[in-house]
Amino acid sequence: MGLNKIFIKHSKNTENCPTEKYYPKTVRIPLSQGMGAPLAPLVLEGDEVKVGQKIGDSKAGFSCPVHSSVSGKVTGFSQLLVPNGSVINCIDIESDGNFTLSPDIKKPRFKTKEEFIKAVRESGLVGLGGAGFPAHIKLNYDPDETPVDTLIINAAECEPYITSDYREMIENPDGVIGGIRLVKDTLNIKNAIIAVESNKPEAIRLLTQKLSGTEDIKIKTLKSSYPQGAEKVIIYNTVKRVVKEGGLPSHVGVVVMNVSSVAFLDGYFKTGIPLINKRITVDGETVGEPKNLLVPIGTVADELLSYCKTDTEKTKRILFGGMMMGVCAFDSFSPVTKTNNAVLAFKEQKIASQTECIRCSSCIKACPLKLMPCEIETAYKKNDTDALKALKVNLCMNCGSCTYVCPAKRKLAETNQLAKRLLMPR
Ligand code: SF4
Ligand code: SF4
Repeated sequence: MGLNKIFIKHSKNTENCPTEKYYPKTVRIPLSQGMGAPLAPLVLEGDEVKVGQKIGDSKAGFSCPVHSSVSGKVTGFSQLLVPNGSVINCIDIESDGNFTLSPDIKKPRFKTKEEFIKAVRESGLVGLGGAGFPAHIKLNYDPDETPVDTLIINAAECEPYITSDYREMIENPDGVIGGIRLVKDTLNIKNAIIAVESNKPEAIRLLTQKLSGTEDIKIKTLKSSYPQGAEKVIIYNTVKRVVKEGGLPSHVGVVVMNVSSVAFLDGYFKTGIPLINKRITVDGETVGEPKNLLVPIGTVADELLSYCKTDTEKTKRILFGGMMMGVCAFDSFSPVTKTNNAVLAFKEQKIASQTECIRCSSCIKACPLKLMPCEIETAYKKNDTDALKALKVNLCMNCGSCTYVCPAKRKLAETNQLAKRLLMPR
């Protein structure tokens, strides 16, 4: 039996929508995208910039540079309030509409693993599936300490509405395969498996056709259920290996990469163009014309929603990411970042009031990691850090399945995040 537990309406309304390019008038590029240290700006107000020019970087090892996604002029710096309460500095750029490439862009060349990892860092790649882990750190494991024999390509895309990875596989299957071979061969990884949910038949058909007669990359079709794409879940359901608390996939011989991430690497090593665009799905109840768009990073939601004929009067909630794990934007001027794969717009939601826990155990049955959310909630209310550790709250990946199934409408996943904070060193 797999670790995935719940079934949600897919609402993949855009699965047959080919990706359109969108060209914004302005962009707002955050100096912190995904995991890693915040970056320092490398440009000043009034500077002219070109597409692909590095505009933010840090000397910290656990960081990843950002590049300009348009050509034009830096109009200033703004601050972006994000849902965890922090404030992120952004570089605001007005596009000149020409999208002129930076003359600094050169096709990366490498002979050694070190040169490959350095080039991956310079590309600005963080995990494009949502977690935002810097790719050069993930790929720089020590094969003597943690030998890796399997590269799993995460093509599950289990969140409702989102079809951006699906469109990547359909529109760029050669890029997907090229990127997998690049990583697999450079890092000398024996096996590669594309793990994809069964609700993506056209992608499965196309990749199977492209890979026929070859043995180096396999396709594993997984059940369409949530949260199939969560890292620990997809590892277990693909190769039946368990990543322990505090462990990394490389500890069980696995590296997991998002399907759009490997496709990006294929293009980057052919052209030298860093991560400046993102394929996203724009959809939701109030969106008149749902679409898949390829947008320059930093494009604000307002422009995209208007392009997709959204009823702004009725829109009361804008989500960056999926319905289950996405985050609500404070306003429509929040920008698309490297880790966003959707902008979803919804009407006012009636939120049912919470009642007392009825001890039904639905939350325990729903948890893919076999945690006990109802017990975690009780321990959190008592500030009982020993109990929270014993209940392994730090394993919670915030998938939201427990909250989704709870008949008493307890905010279980949300409480788990607060409980994890309680255990953080002060
Ligand atoms: S406890 Fe965490 S991992 Fe388990 S269902 Fe809830 S949110 Fe998901
Ligand atoms: S699902 Fe809700 S009501 Fe049922 S045991 Fe869990 S917290 Fe209690």
